[in-house]
Amino acid sequence: MIDFELPDDVTALRATVAAFIDEVVLPAEAHINTRPYMDIVRDLQAQARAAGLWCPFIPKEYGGMGLSHLGNAIVQVEVGRSFSMLGAWALNCMGPQDATMLTLAEYGTEQQKERYLVPLVNGDLRICFSMTERAAGADATGMQTSGVRDGDSWILNGEKWFSSGASVSDVALVMAKTNPEAPRHQQFSTFLVDLPNPGYRIVRDIPVWGEEFAPNFEGETMMGHAEVRIENLTVSQDAIVGGLGNGFSMGQHRLGYGRLRHGMWSIAKAQAALDLAAAQAIARETFGKPLADRQGINWMLADCAEKLYITRLMVLHIAWKMEQGRDLRIENSIAKTYIANMLCDVIDTAIQIHGALGITHDLPLVNWYAHARANRIIDGPDEVHRWTVGRAVTKAYQHSGTTAAVAGGDLF
Ligand SMILES: Cc1cc2nc3c(=O)[nH]c(=O)nc-3n(C[C@H](O)[C@H](O)[C@H](O)COP(=O)(O)OP(=O)(O)OC[C@H]3O[C@@H](n4cnc5c(N)ncnc54)[C@H](O)[C@@H]3O)c2cc1C
Repeated sequence: MIDFELPDDVTALRATVAAFIDEVVLPAEAHINTRPYMDIVRDLQAQARAAGLWCPFIPKEYGGMGLSHLGNAIVQVEVGRSFSMLGAWALNCMGPQDATMLTLAEYGTEQQKERYLVPLVNGDLRICFSMTERAAGADATGMQTSGVRDGDSWILNGEKWFSSGASVSDVALVMAKTNPEAPRHQQFSTFLVDLPNPGYRIVRDIPVWGEEFAPNFEGETMMGHAEVRIENLTVSQDAIVGGLGNGFSMGQHRLGYGRLRHGMWSIAKAQAALDLAAAQAIARETFGKPLADRQGINWMLADCAEKLYITRLMVLHIAWKMEQGRDLRIENSIAKTYIANMLCDVIDTAIQIHGALGITHDLPLVNWYAHARANRIIDGPDEVHRWTVGRAVTKAYQHSGTTAAVAGGDLF
């Protein structure tokens, strides 16, 4: 039997999270201009924790809710309704904190878990991830930052670019090339670096489209995307996570989770944009009729509904595959690209239906669009994921005479 009913416990949890977002988080968004963001976060975290809503994806043994992939997906859709990200901060499932917790839980030594994972789960530490460089982004194996052994220590030199949250973090996960002679994917290691650190110098937070419009308290940096200079940064051998040469495969593991989390949030954001578009189509009259009575507008709305529906099915299917422990690398790439474009398209439609009003800051749509547009680049640009999927299509055909295996063929 095909059953799209959510299990009762997931439905009940969804209602609890939805109520928390509506009654606690969304009202707090009104204070972003008048209070430091992290003060608001701390208040919300205390309430979320008291309500048992904490680190939904982290196993219970580490202090999280230990939810199934489906449960986590449904919770994240509710969390995504908070565009200010306060929802994600409240439940301590904000990137890059969340993916780092997963990495440490899976690959960290006991000492690293104690020193970093426990305070991360408690919400006492902020961490950032420094992989991308000006020299290498989509192809991260082009990273130039070097790590050279010096007794029991490593000396790192190079530069990083777009390290989100670095200037407000207590710890950085820094990737460096530790063995240029090794096979391409085994040349890199990941180091835990305590901040601030004279060897890890923040050059600046790069001005990024959309973030200039985000409300904030007296110009404070809530996140920022840092350019970093790494000069003779000394780190101990104990600071390597997951073993020497394993930095790249660990990086991919964390990005895989992050891509799905972005997708789940995107459902909530696209739904909000489509609701705004529909409301305007009903309310606005031109040439003697509401926009909603025009076929051209209806088709635009229909396209959005179609894309959201496909997205919801994709997320359900991927959550199910994750629960089965099945390989979902191709579905992950398909969904990452599809959902990022879906969100841009739906917000763009909402902007168009609002006319000039759509591009003003009287509405949130342009701000939403700027953030959504970045999703087509973050965690691997569209073209790289489509390249991966395209290669898998031809490989599947060569291997078995059909491409079904990489086109959702395991569904039926
Ligand atoms: C808001 C934001 C936050 C970020 N946060 C972090 C972070 O916290 N830590 C971190 O390490 N990184 C972070 N990044 C960096 C992000 O992961 C990279 O921007 C991304 O991997 C792309 O790398 P790039 O920008 O160097 O693009 P490039 O590698 O220069 O690629 C440019 C373009 O070339 C095209 N292209 C590349 N390869 C191919 C190919 N094989 N086939 C066809 N076309 C191709 C694509 O169109 C791509 O957009 C962040 C980026 C953004 C925008």
